[in-house]
Amino acid sequence: MIEKERIKILNKNKLQNNKFILYWMQASQRVEYNHALEYSIDIANKYKKPLIVFFGLTDNFLDANLRHYQFMLEGLLDVKKELEKKDIKFIIRKTSPELGVIDLAKQACIVITDRGYLNIQKKWRKYASEKIRCPFIQVESDVVIPIEVTSIKEEYSAATIRKKINLKLKDFLKPIKNKVAFKDSLDLKLDSIEISNINKVLSSLNIDRSVKPVEKFKGGTTEAKKHLNFFIKKRIYKYHIYKNDPNKDYISNLSPYLHFGQISPVYIALKCSEISGKGVSSFLEELIVRRELSMNYVYYNVDYDNFNGLPSWAKNSLKKHEMDKREYIYSIDEFEEAETHDPYWNAAEKQMLKFGKMHGYMRMYWGKKIIEWTKKPEDAFYIGVYLNNKYEMDGRDPNAYAGVAWCFGKHDRPWSERPIFGNVRYMNANGLRRKFDVESYSKKYCN
Ligand code: FAD
Repeated sequence: MIEKERIKILNKNKLQNNKFILYWMQASQRVEYNHALEYSIDIANKYKKPLIVFFGLTDNFLDANLRHYQFMLEGLLDVKKELEKKDIKFIIRKTSPELGVIDLAKQACIVITDRGYLNIQKKWRKYASEKIRCPFIQVESDVVIPIEVTSIKEEYSAATIRKKINLKLKDFLKPIKNKVAFKDSLDLKLDSIEISNINKVLSSLNIDRSVKPVEKFKGGTTEAKKHLNFFIKKRIYKYHIYKNDPNKDYISNLSPYLHFGQISPVYIALKCSEISGKGVSSFLEELIVRRELSMNYVYYNVDYDNFNGLPSWAKNSLKKHEMDKREYIYSIDEFEEAETHDPYWNAAEKQMLKFGKMHGYMRMYWGKKIIEWTKKPEDAFYIGVYLNNKYEMDGRDPNAYAGVAWCFGKHDRPWSERPIFGNVRYMNANGLRRKFDVESYSKKYCN
């Protein structure tokens, strides 16, 4: 059973006597542990109609580029293969997703979709809900606990949301069944693009090709599970000790897969919970509490992607210190090219440029220094989001906006006042030296 709190009816339309049940897959790009897909299968079986899964491939999604599109298409190819095994048709069309679903919905009895928390994802679903003439239902599958169940407001910090999450966790951290869909001999002729040749699809898209794909990360659920299994076997038991050491790859590397919905957080959490220990608890804190705090932030705060979304104390304090003298000021291009005076910062930037994933600990330092070396805090916020979303494999995620905002005081508390940062927490190179061998890290990525 899919928990009823995951399900939301987005319009008031009546069931249409039409050809198929339609699942518009957008945020949850996977077949396994996908509550929206399982719910769609239940509906198809109930009404004895075939199920069609649709994906809208737009070449205009925030700052996504070749690096991200290749990864996503590799994942979609996995989806196609897995759906074929279930005898479910997968229709991919080159279109803005909300327009694509409105068109296909004309032949559908009911449309189901998954849930996204960013403004654009909410806008697509709202627009579709106004145009689709049959029932349109959303099923939330990319969080452990549905957003509004955890909290009905924007949370102040990890400490405030943690209690709420812990109260509800056992009700939602549950396995889901992998079901078989009703089969129908109806021969539906629906146009779809062929994605088996990924390079061909990529060359037909009007996207930024300057950011190259990354070897370490190949997209798809199968790859995601390889990373997870390796992490559980070899890393998780010491995660709490080494997670903040960028020289040791003791992190899961699951963020790109989570971002594209190629793996479910419920599945990851259940797998990790099969073992126990400090490493597991520390990992689940990041995966559930920190990640779902980010979802809470972007869902309840429409200004999550700009300076205005920050808490008043942080905004006021940063503005008060806007005229403070900065020892260095860099342009967006100098940041982008890793041309600052600081080899540690440059190393972090280069790790992101080249490998598509900066270590989490360095992301904090990286963001803080952009504030310190930019004239205005608003510009620093813009630069942080821009670079993060362009180069990180996991960019454009709720975690991306919450991560940058954290550097500016979000989900943190005021600290003692100092130049440039005001009451916002400050970080310096000595802090890095105390934590780990930052010279080795810098040598590794600066060469
Ligand atoms: P692990 O340590 O293995 O953690 C497992 C999962 O827990 C992660 O995949 C992620 O979903 C979640 N998680 C871990 N740390 C955090 C955190 N601090 N906040 C929220 N969730 C967390 N994360 C992104 O997914 N995309 C981004 O674009 C992004 N940009 C960031 C920018 C800045 C400036 C900062 C400070 C943080 C950013 N983060 C971002 C959060 C965090 O750094 C990454 O989630 C983490 O490094 C991903 O690597 P991993 O999956 O190997 O992490």
